[in-house]
Amino acid sequence: MSPYTCPSALSRRTVYGTLLNHHDALAALGEQVHAAPYKAPPKAPVLYIKPRNTWAEPGAAVVVPADAPELEMGATLGLVIGRTACRVNAADALGFLAGYVVMNDISVPHAAVYRPSMRFKCRDGFCPMGPVVAASEAINPDALAITVSIDGTVVHRSCTAGLIRPVAQLLADVTEFMTLHPGDVLAVGVAAGAPRARAGQQVTIAIEGVGELTHTLVAAADMAVSDAASLALQPWSAGNSASPAPAAAPTQATLPLNGNAGSGGPIARVAFNGAIHTVTPHPNGVQFADSRVLPEAEVVWLPPFEAGTVIALGLNYADHVKELSKELTVTTQDEPLAFLKSASALVGHRAQTRRPADVAFMHYECELAVLIGRTAKNVRREDAMAHVAGYTVANDYAIRDYLENYYRPNLRVKNRDGCTVLGPWFVPASDVPDPHKLSLRTLVNGVITQQGNTADLISDIPELIEYLSGFMTLQPGDVILTGTPDGVVNVNAGDVVVTEIDGIGRLVNTLVGDEAFNR
Ligand code: CA
Repeated sequence: MSPYTCPSALSRRTVYGTLLNHHDALAALGEQVHAAPYKAPPKAPVLYIKPRNTWAEPGAAVVVPADAPELEMGATLGLVIGRTACRVNAADALGFLAGYVVMNDISVPHAAVYRPSMRFKCRDGFCPMGPVVAASEAINPDALAITVSIDGTVVHRSCTAGLIRPVAQLLADVTEFMTLHPGDVLAVGVAAGAPRARAGQQVTIAIEGVGELTHTLVAAADMAVSDAASLALQPWSAGNSASPAPAAAPTQATLPLNGNAGSGGPIARVAFNGAIHTVTPHPNGVQFADSRVLPEAEVVWLPPFEAGTVIALGLNYADHVKELSKELTVTTQDEPLAFLKSASALVGHRAQTRRPADVAFMHYECELAVLIGRTAKNVRREDAMAHVAGYTVANDYAIRDYLENYYRPNLRVKNRDGCTVLGPWFVPASDVPDPHKLSLRTLVNGVITQQGNTADLISDIPELIEYLSGFMTLQPGDVILTGTPDGVVNVNAGDVVVTEIDGIGRLVNTLVGDEAFNR
């Protein structure tokens, strides 16, 4: 029997969607796949993340935003991971599943899948899930009929037999570049012609042998503001009072928020002697709460806090936009280019990151990371900074060889194991007089290769919080990587890459070859 009787068990895990994994969905794009902006059919699985604010229980009301009269009902089978899955063979892949879940991967309808706005897929409550059934040989995940009914009438039928990558192959191809963890959910993909529904309608998705998921759509205007807010903040509570709160704010031990760490100064999380400790800076290394001092090389550095949703910004420094302009298909933007990463991609200070031998262009990105400390929903920019707990340094590696023009930048470029480095210190907001006046730079083997200043952010921190919180609830523990200035160059195995931000920290990472990862 699977331990996953309720999706609440999925707390603090990642829910991934797969794009264009049905033959008919890819066929629906037709010859467009060979034209700009796509230029070629997808080579690797095209994944995206449904962040924790989207998760909802069966029965939860789905709020139809005022600017989208109809929503697309993305009926799909979700694979619930039961064992850590890294580079699994297709022949063994089904053995890594704990179970299957009925999902509605809801979208605001949008035609282009080059770089769709997060507003289309990441609204609060846009990913109802449940029920979950245990994996067993009685269920063949590649032959499940799926129906969508609206107000009791079947309006759409599909079958997982139409998957381009059947379930086992999908698991093999995804875990080639990204580890899936117990509790993660991977949606296999939505078929062509996803039906649309509007406020007032009831939607039921049924998957043969897995179960039924029913919920009702409600108009945003019909929701009292306070109701909408509480729905968004407790997506699991409806219909299952026994569920533990998932997506809960990390404990104060791991996430100092405004108010309780205001005078505390920087802190970090390290592992030492079999335990995880909170340490503070000391001239000779790090100082433990019990007053021990150790050199920084004698502890294992972890990301400085338990990250929730990780949001990254593309092209948020004007000079970097210019640097990449030759390869940009779309050069104008009317909203920030935000995308999501999984917390499972994170590693800490002094970690090693794999640099595949067979790629031509892997580069670092030095970024100011902003930690949200207080729930933010529809926050105006003038109030935004009160929602910031503090800051750390990020090195957001990318491997441009893997760039494809679907859901760009795709996760194979941006969500690789160990390719998002965070730390060393969490610096409380109260210790940073002006986060928009910070010099940042990258040094490769001691040579400065990238320099910038947060004064040059195209969308500054208040604008980003206003923008993001306008369509999704930001929660304590969520992180915004604010983008990188120009000066990205290829790095190689053996290089020591230091990303540093004055007043925040100096983050060291070493690139290693495939052999260090037994590849
Ligand atoms: Ca970045």
